Amino acid sequence: NSSLHELDPDVAAAVDAELLRQQSTLEMIASENFAPVAVMEAQGSVLTNKYAEGYPGRRYYGGCEHVDVVEQIAIDRIKALFGAEAANVQPHSGAQANAAAMFALLKPGDTIMGLNLAHGGHLTHGMKINFSGKLYNVVPYHVDDTGVVDMAEVERLAKEAKPQLIVAGWSAYPRQLDFAAFRRIADEVGAYLMVDMAHFAGLVAAGLHPNPVPHAHVVTTTTHKTLGGPRGGVILSTQELAKKINSAVFPGQQGGPLEHVIAAKAVSFKVAAGEEFKERQQRTLEGARILAERLVQPDVTEVGVSVLSGGTDVHLVLVDLRNSELDGQQAEDRLHEVGITVNRNAIPNDPRPPMVTSGLRIGTPALATRGFRAEDFTEVAEIIASALKPSYDADDLKARVAKLAEKFPLYPGLK
Ligand code: PLP
Repeated sequence: NSSLHELDPDVAAAVDAELLRQQSTLEMIASENFAPVAVMEAQGSVLTNKYAEGYPGRRYYGGCEHVDVVEQIAIDRIKALFGAEAANVQPHSGAQANAAAMFALLKPGDTIMGLNLAHGGHLTHGMKINFSGKLYNVVPYHVDDTGVVDMAEVERLAKEAKPQLIVAGWSAYPRQLDFAAFRRIADEVGAYLMVDMAHFAGLVAAGLHPNPVPHAHVVTTTTHKTLGGPRGGVILSTQELAKKINSAVFPGQQGGPLEHVIAAKAVSFKVAAGEEFKERQQRTLEGARILAERLVQPDVTEVGVSVLSGGTDVHLVLVDLRNSELDGQQAEDRLHEVGITVNRNAIPNDPRPPMVTSGLRIGTPALATRGFRAEDFTEVAEIIASALKPSYDADDLKARVAKLAEKFPLYPGLK
């Protein structure tokens, strides 16, 4: 019964160092967030010890009476949050959720359509060496010259390729998708519509982004991005498809569910239904807008920095460095040097190789969770704009980052 520090000082030291990193830097990776302490408490609970193959009330193991309660709470809460008929809260991650949903609806060799990876799609939407690209015949669609998904192309390709499934969703895209248009096209060609709302689920929960649930046959999500919960996945569906989805998750894809993570998901869904969460998502959107507006001002465009699609409707900004001397790797390193964590990202028609790229993906969810308001995001935007210029004062920018980090203490109760 030793503590982590007593039993394993090596791992404990790395965990402590990570806490300090999160506290002392500005986290702007668009897919990250800070889970509430109560979520981490549930995730660190004795539920990690329990096997519970099956579903609430229909388990293959004894002693499931308490985890049944937890899993049913999670299911009921997320159904209510998004207005879904059915929910499976067992996928271990977003990728597992997508794999299970595809296994439920498709046969190997079927045709799927998804947003091309370099245009903002996710690996599981049909990348060549991902399961989705290996099992299915992939017809990717793209963004047009203005950086917006080309619905005319989606329609044309769908009519030509007659896919069994169309995936609408993204990992790096600054605008909203037209779910009704996707559904109309899917219906015209007899395809299922699957929306992967992993990135924008928190905005949907807060009522600040259109809800895909009424339009899609299946909606998948992660629980750890804008939604702000533990790392994990969820599948929402119509009642009609629920049985197929459940059996594709277990026993199709997974064994025992992670009931401690499901407990943490349940807690995060309760948080996401509250007024404070909505206010936080409003600040998330406001922060992204402030950043996008700053990064199209003449002092940065003149050094080749701009923003894809000219702005944002969501929680992230895609910085276009195609005309900048800085490539994505250098820009990521530059921001890291001053204490801001982002990731480089390939952008459409990127002239630089995938390990270097000409883009940055910058998101505001984690800082909004920390409490940042408009004036703080304005300062962050100034720091980023300065850091991306050829002459930048690293010490000054580091000090300004440190000041912001101190203004918003993160996990003050943890050591
Ligand atoms: N779907 C989308 C749109 C994503 O952006 C991601 C992760 O970045 C995933 C799925 C996969 O989630 P996970 O990393 O939990 O497997």
